[in-house]
Amino acid sequence: MQKYFLSPSIIASDFTRLTEEIRACESAGADWLHMDIMDGHFVPTITIGPLFVEACKRASKLPLDVHLMISEPEKYIEDFAKAGASNITVHVETCPDLPKVVKKIQSLGCKAGITLNPATPASALDSALPLADLVLVMSVKPGYSGQTFMPEMISKVEEIRNKLNALRSSAHLEVDGGINLDTLPLMKKAGANAFVTGNAAFKHPQGTAAGVKALKELASSPTL
Ligand code: ZN
Repeated sequence: MQKYFLSPSIIASDFTRLTEEIRACESAGADWLHMDIMDGHFVPTITIGPLFVEACKRASKLPLDVHLMISEPEKYIEDFAKAGASNITVHVETCPDLPKVVKKIQSLGCKAGITLNPATPASALDSALPLADLVLVMSVKPGYSGQTFMPEMISKVEEIRNKLNALRSSAHLEVDGGINLDTLPLMKKAGANAFVTGNAAFKHPQGTAAGVKALKELASSPTL
């Protein structure tokens, strides 16, 4: 049976109450904690780095799902592995030799994820697809939290799910960007099994635990 993973994106949390936010994610059934690392170069914004990841590692037993939206990620992979990352995902746009970077991540004991911007065709991942432990489809243009979901990315998820099936790959297919109670079912139907969520989890009117719980129930629902 397919297992579904919910990965709340910690940059949407209230950093002044980080430990409470992480506890709320854990108690409500989050599977991973997603870390959106932005460098102000590959994307316009700067967010968090390895020191923050390391602090989250000390605060939580959940696997840390690290998404590197940074130029020259190879230079920093070891730092993030040492900080406690479980999954490290890199953008094909930043890796001229994607299979090499995937192998480097795996050699450090982490699961290797590959991802692509909305404008990049799925075929850009082909060379590394048989090696990857995780494929992440961006359903917004990377760079900011709180953006609107791009419905045209549904067919990209379907395309990559078909490729993974053809390879008999057990890699996770994760989606990131504008995932909420309305869009999660669309991506699940398209073949995703891991869901990054920002504001829908952390800005829920009844609090983070309620937000995570509602999304997790939807992700795990056998009827969807
Ligand atoms: Zn992300």
